[in-house]
Amino acid sequence: MLEYDTLLVKDIDNWGNLYSITQFLENVELKLSDNGFDRANSRLVFSVCPDDVNRLEELETIENALTGKYNGEFHLGGLGAYPMGGVSGLTAASHHPPDEQNGGDRKEGNLILFVSPHMGIMDDAGSAVYGKIIRPGQEKVTSSCGAMMGFIAALKEAGSPEEFFIAPDENRIDPTRVVLHNELIQNYADDLERILAIDDYNNQTLELFKLNHDVVAKKTKEIIDTFLKKEHFEGNIALISGITINIPERDLFLMKDFTFPKVD
Ligand SMILES: [Zn+2]
Repeated sequence: MLEYDTLLVKDIDNWGNLYSITQFLENVELKLSDNGFDRANSRLVFSVCPDDVNRLEELETIENALTGKYNGEFHLGGLGAYPMGGVSGLTAASHHPPDEQNGGDRKEGNLILFVSPHMGIMDDAGSAVYGKIIRPGQEKVTSSCGAMMGFIAALKEAGSPEEFFIAPDENRIDPTRVVLHNELIQNYADDLERILAIDDYNNQTLELFKLNHDVVAKKTKEIIDTFLKKEHFEGNIALISGITINIPERDLFLMKDFTFPKVD
C-alpha cells in the first residue's frame, strides 16, 4: 500500500498544507468559529468539478465531510472547478444563508466558499500515478480530473499553447470546455509552456493541478471583488481553496489558502 501522504508532502515542495479529512475539518471549524461562522448562520458555496468521485457515498470525501458539518451547498463550478456560475451565481447564493441572529436583531448570514479542483492518485504495482484513479465498481483506469487531463493530453498533441485549437461551439452545447480552455490558453500560456517542458510525468501532472487551482482561485476572487462592489452584502465571506486529492477509498486535501475576503 502506497503512503500517499508522505509521497505528496515530498512532491508538493511546500505548496500548501496536506490534511486528512479529520485534520481538515478541525482546522476549518476552528478558524470559521473564531470568525463567527457556524452552521446556523452560514451557507456553503462550492466551486468544484461536477465529477461524481468527489461525492460518492462509498467514498470518504472532503465535500461530503464539509456538507455534513455545514449543510447543503450552492454550486458555482463547472468542469475543472471553474466558477462558471460567476457573479450572478454568487449574488444568488448571497440571498440564501440563514440570518445571523443577535437577540432580536437579524442581518444577512455568511458565505463559506470552497474552491477546489481535484487530482486522483492510483497505485500501479507500488508506484504512484498522478491524475488517474480506479473508480468504485470499475476495474479500468480513468482520469481525475478528466477535464484537466484531457486538456493536457490535447496540449501535448498540439505541441504548444499557440498551436492549441479550441473547437468553436456556436450552439453553446459545450460551454465549460470553451471557457476553461480559453482562460488557460489566453491567460496562462507561459505557465503551460513551463508545464509542457517538464519531463517527469507525475511532476508535470502535479504542476498542472497547481495551475488549475491558481486559475480557479484567482477567478473566484475576481468574482467576489466584483460582487462586493456591486451588491450591498451584510454578511461575511470565508474562502477556502486547495486541491482535493482522490486516493483509494478517501480524499486528502491540499489546502493552499484560507482567507476572509469580507469579515466585520
Ligand atoms: Zn474533474
